[in-house]
Amino acid sequence: MMSEETSPSLAAPKLERVRHDLKWRTLTVAKIERLSPGMLRLHLTSDELSDFTSLSPDDHIKILLPNPDGDPFMRDYTPRLFDNASASLVIDFAVHEAGPATLWALSAKIGDTVKIGGPRGSVVIKGPIAKWLLVGDEAALPAIGRRIEETEAGISVTSVIAVESSEDRQSFVSAAAHDEIWVHRPLSQGDRPDAMIAALDKIDIGTDTFVWIAAEAKVAKAIRVYMTEKRGIPAGWFKAAGYWQKGEAGAHVAIE
Ligand SMILES: Cc1cc2nc3c(=O)[nH]c(=O)nc-3n(C[C@H](O)[C@H](O)[C@H](O)COP(=O)(O)OP(=O)(O)OC[C@H]3O[C@@H](n4cnc5c(N)ncnc54)[C@H](O)[C@@H]3O)c2cc1C
Repeated sequence: MMSEETSPSLAAPKLERVRHDLKWRTLTVAKIERLSPGMLRLHLTSDELSDFTSLSPDDHIKILLPNPDGDPFMRDYTPRLFDNASASLVIDFAVHEAGPATLWALSAKIGDTVKIGGPRGSVVIKGPIAKWLLVGDEAALPAIGRRIEETEAGISVTSVIAVESSEDRQSFVSAAAHDEIWVHRPLSQGDRPDAMIAALDKIDIGTDTFVWIAAEAKVAKAIRVYMTEKRGIPAGWFKAAGYWQKGEAGAHVAIE
């Protein structure tokens, strides 16, 4: 492992929490794109999106789906792209063992409607960040793609993303200098951190690098531990979340 670990002396970035009024909106499917074998993109529209707000690439909205047996299902998704002027919102769905959200997306047709709520809040990360290290899997790819595209010139971004095969790679347009590392593993091993940690072992993580991690909960936890224990990343210089949990429906796991 090359080492130029993060110095604890630099003031940590601030995670500023901004609340938004909760608003429910009914959206119509306007366009469907298969980005890759493992990713489906839905373009949604509604006049109700004219005041849609999402301040951070890792914001999430709730998708509400009918449940014949009780309360509706709610699942978290990233606003991948949005435009108030054209009242449009894009959501990318990772394709996997289908729960209600994935099933809905896979069977969606132009003109279908869906109800979404939020985002209820945004965590805006501000500070002396010269570099982002973005680590995640398919579920985190929309948030990672948005962060890469929204990062300004003069800042560098390294992404380490696990997908099934080279067909699932995506390309991003960014003013930032972007270095991409793709890790291939079958989705059946989506709860195993070893391939991602092996890729992370090969990269330098210098001072003023903010590490953002989102993946299957066990993987996100293992990478969080690796970052603190093996790479010495100090508190305040990373954010980690479990975006799903193997064998659990509708999981969103906070990683401390
Ligand atoms: C903040 C946040 C943002 C997110 N943004 C996105 C996004 O933009 N796009 C996206 O695709 N996902 C995103 N996710 C993940 C998404 O919420 C979950 O994958 C969700 O569980 C999918 O719901 P479902 O109804 O299809 O499956 P569920 O009913 O929740 O689960 C059914 C089965 O599928 C498994 N499963 C769930 N997700 C995955 C997965 N990704 N890969 C493999 N197996 C899985 C579960 O373990 C379970 O066994 C996000 C999660 C969070 C917390």
